[in-house]
Amino acid sequence: MHYHIVEDKDGDTVDAIPYCSDFCNKEGQGDKYRGWNGCHEGADYDQECANCGEVIRGLDYYKEQDCSHEWRECITTDGVVVAHSCNKCGAWKKTEAGLLTSE
Ligand SMILES: [Zn+2]
Ligand SMILES: [Zn+2]
Repeated sequence: MHYHIVEDKDGDTVDAIPYCSDFCNKEGQGDKYRGWNGCHEGADYDQECANCGEVIRGLDYYKEQDCSHEWRECITTDGVVVAHSCNKCGAWKKTEAGLLTSE
């Protein structure tokens, strides 16, 4: 999933608006769109996309899925593999690189 991070003047994160996709992030934020910000592990609970209203399943949902995960790499524009997402159920897991938060 994707988050649009809102920071205060000191650069501290004050809010994270959930989006189901980069497309919805762009459409929802318009001029405030801050670039690709995907591959976030969601919250434990279900959230709704702030743009289209699609339900973004939380981690608890995936824990209950009986899925033999089929992982694909999620790569940033810098070519860093930050996460893997399952083709079948959409679950996420972060790589070590993904644990580094963006500046
Ligand atoms: Zn959406
Ligand atoms: Zn899966």
